[in-house]
Amino acid sequence: MLDAEEARRLLRAERDHALQRREAAQAVLADELESTEVNPVTQHPGDNAAHVIDREVAQTSLEQAEADLAEVDAALARVADDSYGRCEVDGEPIDPERLRARPTARYCTVHQQQMEAQA
Ligand SMILES: [Zn+2]
Repeated sequence: MLDAEEARRLLRAERDHALQRREAAQAVLADELESTEVNPVTQHPGDNAAHVIDREVAQTSLEQAEADLAEVDAALARVADDSYGRCEVDGEPIDPERLRARPTARYCTVHQQQMEAQA
């Protein structure tokens, strides 16, 4: 088991990382908005297609960052109520190495694989 202190430290790093990704995505989206507002007519179609892709990539990464933040907050709540680091299906301790690699993990390896097989 990870101790609560290490878990919090890992989760805070994970949170910072997600916040940075969210900010970067928001900055791209804000830029995109500005460039289409300032210059709606002069853009040629090739430009436009590239912008649409940029926007989609940024939107996806924004959504991913927000989902990650929610996961981190849920994990921090589990640290607080002492259920962190246990599989949500069988309550077995999750391998600390796995938690170090992925601090928001909710399941042991066996159940993670089951969840992924269902998804
Ligand atoms: Zn399990």
